[in-house]
Amino acid sequence: MELLERRIREDGIVKKGNVLKVDNFLNHQMDIDLFNEMGKEFRRLFEGKTINKILTIEASGIGIACIVAQYFHVPVVFAKKTQSINIDGEVYSTKIESFTHKRVYDVIVSRKYLGPEDHILIIDDFLANGCAVSGLIDIIEHAGATVEGIGIAIEKGQQIGGRMLREKGYQVESLAIIDSMDDETGEIRFRHEK
Ligand code: 5GP
Repeated sequence: MELLERRIREDGIVKKGNVLKVDNFLNHQMDIDLFNEMGKEFRRLFEGKTINKILTIEASGIGIACIVAQYFHVPVVFAKKTQSINIDGEVYSTKIESFTHKRVYDVIVSRKYLGPEDHILIIDDFLANGCAVSGLIDIIEHAGATVEGIGIAIEKGQQIGGRMLREKGYQVESLAIIDSMDDETGEIRFRHEK
């Protein structure tokens, strides 16, 4: 998606450790006009799919998912990161290793909001090694629900997540795929520029 790539080039900051900061428009301050364009594009890319719910993970996925949901007219459920794991059976839970914070979170979704009747579109801001999305898939499988697709704003194509998920047969649609980024020069190359 050209609009998003242009914005990444203009405002993205490449940090050490293969981290892209996009706080100016995606992860802290949020550009809602841009999110709306992303919502329209996801609607187009997942045309024909039966989707009745969007699942994301707190915190950064929530804003994007809410705007995207307006184009699908479905509710958004977000997985919560928690310290205390609930063992009374009211929640689905899994563990997710955070790429940016280098720690493992317990993540939960209430059983009330996910079940076998649900057809889910997963939405997240970044796809790196695929831990966050794999955790969400794990929760969806526990619930007996169906993964209809995975919509990502920015995929870091130099990491394994996208390839791993596509090899498993999931429809992964990333609006911008980065193939390399240089923290010395700040240069970012997108996949289609190869
Ligand atoms: P994964 O679980 O695929 O390894 O990483 C995806 C998650 O880590 C996303 O939910 C996102 O919050 C965070 N993340 C991964 N890479 C980056 C990055 O380069 N920049 C930012 N801002 N977040 C990232």
